[in-house]
Amino acid sequence: MNQVCVAKFGGTSVANYQAMCNCAKIVTNNPNTKLVVLSASAGVTNLLVELASGTLDQASIEQRMEKLSAIENSILNDLGRPAAITEEIEKLLHEIRDLANHAIQEHDDALTDRIVSFGEIMSTKLFTEVLNSLGYKAKWFDVRKVMRTDSVFGKAAPIIEVIGNCAKEQIAPLLDDYIVVTQGFIGSNAIGQTTTLGRGGSDYSAALLGEAIPGCAAIEIWTDVPGIYTTDPRLVPEAHAIPEITFSEAAEMATFGAKVLHPATIFPAVRKNIPVFVGSSKEPEKGGTWVRKETNSKPTFRAVALRKNQILLTLQSPNMIGACGFLA
Ligand code: ADP
Ligand code: ASP
Ligand code: MG
Repeated sequence: MNQVCVAKFGGTSVANYQAMCNCAKIVTNNPNTKLVVLSASAGVTNLLVELASGTLDQASIEQRMEKLSAIENSILNDLGRPAAITEEIEKLLHEIRDLANHAIQEHDDALTDRIVSFGEIMSTKLFTEVLNSLGYKAKWFDVRKVMRTDSVFGKAAPIIEVIGNCAKEQIAPLLDDYIVVTQGFIGSNAIGQTTTLGRGGSDYSAALLGEAIPGCAAIEIWTDVPGIYTTDPRLVPEAHAIPEITFSEAAEMATFGAKVLHPATIFPAVRKNIPVFVGSSKEPEKGGTWVRKETNSKPTFRAVALRKNQILLTLQSPNMIGACGFLA
């Protein structure tokens, strides 16, 4: 096995069949891309969170189920509804409905994570089928066999050593023969219960798997913008992509609100010094941002991040002048 590249695709990148085909092209254009990590299709996790809440009445459950089925079935339809995968997706949708009904009676955090995990299970099943239908050898892999976490449902912490050992044993041997397609965001605790790493956690999963796979040369985060920008391009049209940025700058941006990367993504990359690439799955030709230990350029400031829903409290009192410890 030469160098391995891990490629993660976010929700909008796997929102529909056409978007999945763009991802397939990116994966197969680089023979080193052997491990693919996916989010749920756009909108799916939000619907699952509502279904798991235990607060919906029957009509509202059915309405959410219809929306969910529409997203999954649109991809299935464009795939030509192959029998085996169609049956699998239908079975998963039934299971979600049953669990959502169960959540009304008995709601708990473990059940929520179980329900929410179905988004990534379905997107990876469908994407594996997309790759296979295009003639590539792809294998679906249940990341819960490897992504061991603690039991803090909704925001589980990965257990790095176990993930490293399991990935070496169970994923690495497959990479010689297959493009392995697996789930971001989800994991499992020591007794096999499904956990999740927190919203937006698929970036973190990709970085953890990159760290765990021997010889990982790059972690690619493919999203809906061609790189990390000087600030959120949705809010500021004048923002522009940054060609390169250091690990610590990217970590700081993520921590202070730049949604493009989950805040924990950089830590595994730093531990193994693996460069992280951020680019657009729709417009890969536009290039993107490389996040590395060191960069050649050293501007006065690199970017501006926005953290939403913050409260700024300004206190003023003559007692503060020349005093320390006032806020305490
Ligand atoms: P994905 O579903 O692929 O994980 P996200 O929606 O989580 O994508 O992250 C991509 C979004 O992050 C962009 O659409 C953009 O609005 C937002 N964003 C916030 N700050 C930045 C930034 N500095 N550079 C690029 N994108 C940013
Ligand atoms: N699907 C999950 C979410 O919407 C994880 C992710 O997209 O990274 O939060
Ligand atoms: Mg994200």
